[in-house]
Amino acid sequence: MSLVLGLTAAAADVFGGAIIVQKNWERRYLKYFVALGAGFMLATAVTEMVPESLRLAGSRAPLFILAGYLIVHFFEHTVTPHFHFGEETHPDEFVHAHKSYSVLLGLTIHTFFDGIAIASGFLVSTWLGWVIFLAVFLHKIPEGFTVASVMLASGRSRGIAWGSSALLGAATLAGVLTMSVLERFLSAGLALSAGVTIYVAASDLMPEVNKEPGVKMALVVFLGVGLLFVLDQLIRAAH
Ligand SMILES: [Zn+2]
Ligand SMILES: [Zn+2]
Repeated sequence: MSLVLGLTAAAADVFGGAIIVQKNWERRYLKYFVALGAGFMLATAVTEMVPESLRLAGSRAPLFILAGYLIVHFFEHTVTPHFHFGEETHPDEFVHAHKSYSVLLGLTIHTFFDGIAIASGFLVSTWLGWVIFLAVFLHKIPEGFTVASVMLASGRSRGIAWGSSALLGAATLAGVLTMSVLERFLSAGLALSAGVTIYVAASDLMPEVNKEPGVKMALVVFLGVGLLFVLDQLIRAAH
């Protein structure tokens, strides 16, 4: 199951890339995915992944969670001098082409943990697997879009832009496969990816939400949080 959903998430990366490579496609809705994803991911990480990590990894869990958070911070914002979610509109930041590849590296590490998150969720329970999949899926289209737009802004070809979003899809699948093979490291994998999920929600997606004027986008975040609690009531309470 985690492999099928990993493939679905990977396809969403490629679809996100295609949105920007095919210039005429609608992209207005992307920001709603970002806001909905921010709320849903944050709620999933804090109320589902963290408690489950504490249960599985015990007193080691907090350190793994912190490490997961810092790994993404290191690769997306320390090694990489300029990165933010959404369309890249600062081509002058990319006069040196290698900068765009540092963004690609950062996102590849992050997406690898998206895959780890999905697979470790399913190793714990079907419920956890599905909510993590949904959390990952909601930010996958904007993620593929982001990397493709960085490539185009830095003067790479459309082929490379699309290839980059495909690479993120492949890294997600690699994460799923890695966790399936290394099942015995489940407690570490889940806790690390909980930290990664918190980072992506609160430090990658939330700033993009806050850039939007007005309260509409900010409210969509609460909708994302509410969605998790509705699912929890409908699905988990039914069992
Ligand atoms: Zn920029
Ligand atoms: Zn991701």
